[in-house]
Amino acid sequence: MMDGLPVDMVEEDITTELKEFYNVNGLDDVRVIRDRQTKVSRQLGFLRFRDLNQSRAFVERNFPSIYLHGPNPHNDRGTKVRIAYSREREDRARARAEADWTCIMCAIVNYSTRQKCFRCQAPRPGMLLMGTSIRSKLIRTRWRPRRSSWTTGPESR
Ligand SMILES: [Zn+2]
Repeated sequence: MMDGLPVDMVEEDITTELKEFYNVNGLDDVRVIRDRQTKVSRQLGFLRFRDLNQSRAFVERNFPSIYLHGPNPHNDRGTKVRIAYSREREDRARARAEADWTCIMCAIVNYSTRQKCFRCQAPRPGMLLMGTSIRSKLIRTRWRPRRSSWTTGPESR
């Protein structure tokens, strides 16, 4: 994760500077987070590496910050950009929490991870269970190849 990117920097600029000035190896993807409405950079970005070692090497060599110039450098020193490992894991946990379900027997709300109601042991409603598992499968398919470069160990559940 990169925080404090020059606002006018696009993915290509970042890739170029990282390769040129930071000898980055194994860079798989660069993503700048933009405001959904205005499309203006939120000065936040993500780097994805092909494997964990390359990701770790980059962060350990440069932590806690790198300097990027952007297409229109305002000064020679560049802009200080904080780097850190992604919080994707926490974001996923939050996404799961949003899928909490309501017991049809006693109307109590259960955590999304529970398969049975914690109060009356009624099984989780089938529809919701299907929907949730399909969604988590999609997330897993989409993120698994990338996650290995950001996190260590098996996913905790
Ligand atoms: Zn219940």
